[in-house]
Amino acid sequence: MKNLYTPIEIPCRSCGRSGGFNPLLKVVTGYRPGASLQVVDCPDCGLTFLNPQYQFDAYSDYYQNDYYVDDGANSLEETYRVAQSHAAFKPYLKNFAQRLQPGATYLDVGAGTGQWLDFLRDVAPEIPLENIHVLEPSDASTAFIRRRYPTISVQRSMLEDNSYPDGFFDGVLCSALIEHFTDPLESLLRFSRIIKDGGRLMLITPNLDEHSYAKGPQNLFKFPHTFYYTPGTLVSLLEKAGFTVETEDVFYDSGLIWYAFLIVVARKKEPRAIGDVEKFRVKTVRDTANAVSAKAFRQRMKARISAFRREFRVWFIKRKIKKIAPWLARSK
Ligand SMILES: [Zn+2]
Repeated sequence: MKNLYTPIEIPCRSCGRSGGFNPLLKVVTGYRPGASLQVVDCPDCGLTFLNPQYQFDAYSDYYQNDYYVDDGANSLEETYRVAQSHAAFKPYLKNFAQRLQPGATYLDVGAGTGQWLDFLRDVAPEIPLENIHVLEPSDASTAFIRRRYPTISVQRSMLEDNSYPDGFFDGVLCSALIEHFTDPLESLLRFSRIIKDGGRLMLITPNLDEHSYAKGPQNLFKFPHTFYYTPGTLVSLLEKAGFTVETEDVFYDSGLIWYAFLIVVARKKEPRAIGDVEKFRVKTVRDTANAVSAKAFRQRMKARISAFRREFRVWFIKRKIKKIAPWLARSK
């Protein structure tokens, strides 16, 4: 247990590069005090991630026991209520459901408090409850979901330990989850295993290209978010995992104003197994394009972060003036 929360250096999970990454932001608030996490991007493919980052076992422990708690101060009812702000995504969910045949089987993976189950019921009431499944590692939130949906099949497990048969699902909904994985390409291959050929995967994740720094970089970069995607880096990973992208959109959520979301529906084109990963870690034309845009992105990011720091300094000085010489602050 001693070394569970020791951050480690990882290779790029998209192109396999190890070392020589571009540092973007030095400190990310860690789960354990003293941990030094930083945000980097890969000069070869443009993927942005925490490096060093906590290992899988640490996140596994965290998501099963700590991420969702149900006590007085942080009730799941409250988390569930806040998640209602995602209701604006419903039209996208409807579009996703319409791409699947009647009788299709669905999985809500990383279902949290189950708010997306409500949304799915709203936009596609014809889907019988026995066709909907939930995979979620947290003890507290699986209990919460079971209370509200006693007949839905709920598997309490990490994606890595799921026991679904191959090709079991027509549609997998993965909302606000892919930014939490420690190896997103491997996770996509795990989805590929349980999705039927021709089945769909819907992904929703914060869009790094459209991020607003109104609330500061620390609101985007935080330790549960291990990977950060632009449309380019996400599509590249999906293609490596054998998916082909059908729709791609950016959504600005007014309820969560510091995020813009990337919404992708991808179809399983070719079955690929985890053992096949290595041979897909080759540079493609798209990777090269990403590397070019990564440089531009880095410059944009640096400019935004220093603008944020500048604003913060101005705010801080104004606050000081107000304290020391209130008449000066008032005269402005
Ligand atoms: Zn890379």
